Formats: sequence, structure tokens, C-alpha cells
Amino acid sequence: KMPVERSAGAVVFRETKPGRTYLILRHAASTKAASRAPAGGHWSFPKGHIEKGEETQAAVRREIKEETGLSQIEFTPGFKETIRYFVNYEGERRLKFVAFFLARVRRRERVKISWEHRAYAWLPYEKAYERLTYSSDKSVLKKAEQFLRNAT
Ligand code: ATP
Repeated sequence: KMPVERSAGAVVFRETKPGRTYLILRHAASTKAASRAPAGGHWSFPKGHIEKGEETQAAVRREIKEETGLSQIEFTPGFKETIRYFVNYEGERRLKFVAFFLARVRRRERVKISWEHRAYAWLPYEKAYERLTYSSDKSVLKKAEQFLRNAT
């Protein structure tokens, strides 16, 4: 049977005077020649591999800290969207599942990206939607925006 990879991440947002903004990250360009990723590196959400025995939201908190420097996030209860896609892992085709939560940033903490990424942007919904590379990420963002609109 095909091995499965599990990651988790978050749609990170802030409420500002001019409106809600979302944090998206540009991946560093892939070093793998066979990668189907866009040459410049894809735009996506902070996320990462879930370690064995690690609780999913704890993993997300850890990944957000590692990838953005943000340590003051607050999970918005009731939101979880899982996407799936195929990846090449050590020459093997694997199905990858990524569960996304919603995480609010209240403090004006400074974003500091890691070596895994080359850029970040806080963007309003429409701009973030356009900027995201993959349609599955776009659909997660759309659901997040709808969820927050219905919650307020
Ligand atoms: P991690 O899960 O730890 O962040 P990673 O950064 O190596 O790992 P991905 O961002 O999943 O993993 O990238 C692996 C491959 O999958 C890359 O080729 C990337 O372009 C592609 N990819 C990333 N997100 C999607 C998506 N939503 N749909 C389809 N392919 C994607």
C-alpha cells in the first residue's frame, strides 16, 4: 500500500483597521530537478510535517514559530480543512494530507521567515487568493474567509 505523508498548517490572519489580512509565504525554490514546483517557489501557508506522537495543533504551533517567528497565535475553534496531493518522496510517489487550522495573530509581532522560505506577505483576501499557487490552497483560504465572515 502507498505510504502516506501527513502535514498540518494554518491560515494565519490579523484584523487590522483597513481590514483582515492573511499571511502567506513564498517557498524557497526547489533544489530537486524533478520537482513540479514553479521555478520561483510556490506561495502557500505555513505548515509542516507532524512528528510521531505529536498532537496536530501543537505541531502547527511549532511550525508557525519555526517558519514565521510568530509565537502568540490563537487558534479559532471550529475550523479544519484537509487537502491532499501527490508528492515525490525519495523517488517514491506518496499521497500527502495537509490539515489546515485558522490562527489569529493579535499582537504586532514581527515576522521572521526561515531558510525554507524566501518571502512573506500580509494580504487582504482577494490578493492572497490570487497570489496562492495551488488551487487547493485557494479553496482553503476561501473557506477560511467564509468562516470568518459568518462568525462576525
Ligand atoms: P512540509 O510539509 O514539511 O512543509 P515541503 O515544504 O517539502 O514539506 P510541500 O510544500 O508539500 O512540502 O511541497 C512538496 C511538493 O508539493 C512541491 O513540489 C510543491 O510544489 C508541491 N505542493 C505544495 N503544495 C501543494 C498543493 N496544495 N497542491 C499540489 N502540490 C503542492
